[in-house]
Amino acid sequence: MSDCIFCKIVAGEIPCKKVYEDDEVLAFHDIHPVAPVHFMIVPKAHVDSLLHCDDGHRAILGKILLLAPRLAREQGLATGFRTAINTGRDGGQEVFHLHVHVYGGSGPRPL
Ligand code: AMP
Ligand code: ZN
Repeated sequence: MSDCIFCKIVAGEIPCKKVYEDDEVLAFHDIHPVAPVHFMIVPKAHVDSLLHCDDGHRAILGKILLLAPRLAREQGLATGFRTAINTGRDGGQEVFHLHVHVYGGSGPRPL
């Protein structure tokens, strides 16, 4: 996966504005934020997208979703936030390393 930009961020080869890290996940701010607060949570182990997940990813997906409200609160989004998982080219995915967008801080916005 040497050409995966998020694997390079996980490996420390490309810098990021880190929000959270442990041995399984990394969260960092989006380089092109769509809201005052916008970060992504990614599994450290490469998987292309939600279309490529199976039962073996159950724990990491649950962990990421449970991290979202905790990190959102720490980033000042205590009263609410939006999550997005773009999946596949037809789902608007641009970086093919699974990531959960967490963003907010500008009030409700249309889908
Ligand atoms: P998507 O695959 O469409 O869900 O979105 C990929 C996201 O990754 C976009 O919001 C980009 O702004 C973001 N992105 C791309 N490269 C970087 C980077 N080096 N650091 C942080 N965010 C990035
Ligand atoms: Zn990757």
